[in-house]
Amino acid sequence: MALIVQKYGGSSVADAVCIKRVASNISKYYDRGDQVIVVVSAMGDSTDSLISLAKELNEQPKAREMDMLLSTGEQVSIALLSMALDAMEKPVISLTGPQVGIITSNVHSKARIQEIDTERLQKELDKNNIVIVAGFQGKTEDDEITTLGRGGSDTTAVALAAALGADMCEIYTDVTGVFTTDPRVVPEAKK
Ligand code: ASP
Ligand code: MG
Repeated sequence: MALIVQKYGGSSVADAVCIKRVASNISKYYDRGDQVIVVVSAMGDSTDSLISLAKELNEQPKAREMDMLLSTGEQVSIALLSMALDAMEKPVISLTGPQVGIITSNVHSKARIQEIDTERLQKELDKNNIVIVAGFQGKTEDDEITTLGRGGSDTTAVALAAALGADMCEIYTDVTGVFTTDPRVVPEAKK
C-alpha cells in the first residue's frame, strides 16, 4: 500500500466526460489498495473566464476579492470529481485548501504556503476515504482565503506530498513538465 498524491490540471477536468475518466483513473489506484489524495485545478479555462468577468465589473479588482472569486473554480472541480467517484461507489470526500489547513502568507493572489496541518487529511485517509483537495488555495492565519498564483495547483500537490511524506506525487498534465509559472502567460517560464 502506497500513499499517492495525484494532481489533475484544468484540461483533465474540463467536462463531465473528462471528470469521469479522471475518476476511473483514481479508482484504479484506490482499488489496488493505495491511499490516494487528489489535487485538482479549476475546470478548463474557467479561471480565465472568472478573471474576464471580474474585469468587466472593475478594472482593478482588489486582490482579496480576486482570491475570493478564483478559489471558487477549484471548489467546483472538487465537488464534481467527488460526486463522480461517489457514483462509482468509492468512499470520497472533497476539501478546500482552507479546510485542509493549508496556511499561507497574507499576500493575496501570490501567497506562499507556510504550513500544512496534516491532521484532517490523515483522519480522512484513516477512514479509507479518497481525499479530493482544491488546488491553488489556502488561508492566512486570520482565515482570509488566498491563492498561490497562476498554475498554483502543482504547488499544492507537491507541498501536500512533502507534508505527508507521500510515496509518490504524480502530476497529470498535457504540458511537458512543471514550470516556474504558467508558460502560457509568461514565455520566460522555466521548466
Ligand atoms: N486554476 C488556477 C489557474 O488557472 C490554478 C491552476 O490551474 O493550477 O491558474
Ligand atoms: Mg488552471
